[in-house]
Amino acid sequence: MQQFKQLTDRIWYQTPVSETDRPIVAVITGDDRSLVIDAGNSSQHATLFLEEMKNQGLGRPDLVALTHWHWDHIFGIKQMAVPTIATHRTVEEIQKMLDYEWTDEALEERIRQGIEIPFCADAIKLEFGKDREIEVILPTIRFTGELAIDLGGVTCLLRQVENDHSPGSALVYIPEERVLFLGDAMYADIFSDKWNYTVNQTTRLLDTIAEYEADYYVWSHGEAMAKDAFEQEVHVLRQIIEVTKQAEGHVSEMRRLYRDLVGRDLTTDEEETLVFFANGAKK
Ligand SMILES: [Zn+2]
Repeated sequence: MQQFKQLTDRIWYQTPVSETDRPIVAVITGDDRSLVIDAGNSSQHATLFLEEMKNQGLGRPDLVALTHWHWDHIFGIKQMAVPTIATHRTVEEIQKMLDYEWTDEALEERIRQGIEIPFCADAIKLEFGKDREIEVILPTIRFTGELAIDLGGVTCLLRQVENDHSPGSALVYIPEERVLFLGDAMYADIFSDKWNYTVNQTTRLLDTIAEYEADYYVWSHGEAMAKDAFEQEVHVLRQIIEVTKQAEGHVSEMRRLYRDLVGRDLTTDEEETLVFFANGAKK
């Protein structure tokens, strides 16, 4: 059951669902207008979010900002029915999807061509069932680099960012509330044979994130993470980046160096991240 939670004075969000890959959808409520972050993975998802906004007396949104082009963040655009903002790169990717069909056969065919991945196809089937009414809509407002949006008393700063998960992704920073929305930028590249992180892209991403002062960091498929916990995640990533460089991506050597560094065995999460970096080193 998805919950609708208040994070700060002006920020509300709906919790994610892992089975159907529904990401967090959030709203920033200004004095003059409100902006929703990501459109949800279906009309149903967007409708549920809009109903929750109404129940909380938040009215309707005026704008939607997309973090990136992946289906689960954009299939609710039509239902949101307001102007949508995305980076040029994100729009280019959505453009490719305009003529796609979403039947089992079409999904399987795109998996064969290496355009689609089973992870997304399975979640699409689960979210939509047999009857898939999917309409891909292009964003209205496009930008490259940075964009500031004044909502009245609160600002949203969109920042295009280097990352492995989805080139052209945008972070959304709300300085007055000290909250940074990460979208999926902190996750690995899942559209490759082997899921991976690269040293260069991840380093650039972490350096960019470090420019922002935040109390909460929102992972689209996770949680609104408090500063301390997030800093710990970043610390682990930076250490794994270091051993990846030292071991030049050789996974057993990376494991040995990391074990020496932390003085214990690797956790399951650390092991997974380490393997992703080893995969990235081979790209
Ligand atoms: Zn994604």
